[in-house]
Amino acid sequence: MTDTVQIEIHQIEKSRIDAVDFDNLVFGRSFADHMLVVDYKDGAWQTPQIVPYGPISYTPAMMSLHYGQAIFEGMKAYKNAEGEILVFRPHDNWARLNKSAVRMCMPEIPEDIFMEGLSALLKLDSAWIPAKPGCSMYIRPFMFSTDEYVGVTPSKTYKFMIFNCPVGAYYSKPLRVKVETQYIRAAHGGVGFSKNAGNYGGSLYPTQLAAQEGYDQIIWTDAATHQYVEEAGTMNLLFVVDNKLVTAPTGDTILDGVTRKSVLQIARDWGMEVEERQLSVAELVEGIKAGKVQEAFGAGTAAVIAPISTIGFEGQDYELPERPADAFSKRVYEEINSIRLGVKEDSRGWVYKV
Ligand code: PMP
Repeated sequence: MTDTVQIEIHQIEKSRIDAVDFDNLVFGRSFADHMLVVDYKDGAWQTPQIVPYGPISYTPAMMSLHYGQAIFEGMKAYKNAEGEILVFRPHDNWARLNKSAVRMCMPEIPEDIFMEGLSALLKLDSAWIPAKPGCSMYIRPFMFSTDEYVGVTPSKTYKFMIFNCPVGAYYSKPLRVKVETQYIRAAHGGVGFSKNAGNYGGSLYPTQLAAQEGYDQIIWTDAATHQYVEEAGTMNLLFVVDNKLVTAPTGDTILDGVTRKSVLQIARDWGMEVEERQLSVAELVEGIKAGKVQEAFGAGTAAVIAPISTIGFEGQDYELPERPADAFSKRVYEEINSIRLGVKEDSRGWVYKV
């Protein structure tokens, strides 16, 4: 993309990078020197600014705090062996942010502001992108309403921002997940497909209850019947059943995950049968008992692939088998990882070079 957006850059006086221990990065606790800020007012996006990362100040009546017009995205950047900056499928995140924006009555962000703002920010803070195996720069684009007004109506002003966090390798031990049959995450006609802040606020209490029972995450089921598997925490769910890859269709209650999409595409390219269909909890439990469910895993930007060891349902734990060395979820993790790091040829056009 040729640069078309004028960006005002105010550089930090002294970088904070020396204070960061890159050998012990905790996810989401370190923030790169700069952030992108773009204001929306009078019906138009204003000149993007890149400024030092730091607090922003607002009035107590800022509408997003009360009425929840707040949406976000999450994606990752890497450095390849030549030191070039690679971002995994950022256009998909841009498109998804705009889907969320439409549903939440917020203005869409133009592609050139999103992509060029992101590129300029990553270039400026390129020293913050870890080049070590497993490490990456987690990118957080987000938008929120900023009018000072009490009243339930769409705001007239917004801020779109991006900040970046260098993050370490994500070693996840296999997860224990609980099938949730009381609380719900999303219903048809609702906002489940959007990445708005309220979806995450609503998930905390049921997840906390599951944690008290010894589970890491919840498997959300459909709101109407609690019979069908939907997604988990910040991951989509996929299963290998009788050598086929099975996952719920995304629709309006499930987030259309970029990792899920990538896994499905790779599976199809490898000639594996893929079924995007409703999977009932009964079929899952019976399948585990009968040895038909070979693998269960979550797919999302943070962990890429998170294997599931245990599924809890109605007070009973069902154990998945140990994954063999050639398990699909291991091979697909290696494939995605080597593409996003630029180690393997990007034949699908997923990598955006900054
Ligand atoms: N579901 C939810 C609810 C999520 O928050 C996420 C993380 N964005 C995902 C699924 C996985 O999406 P992605 O692969 O795009 O990170």
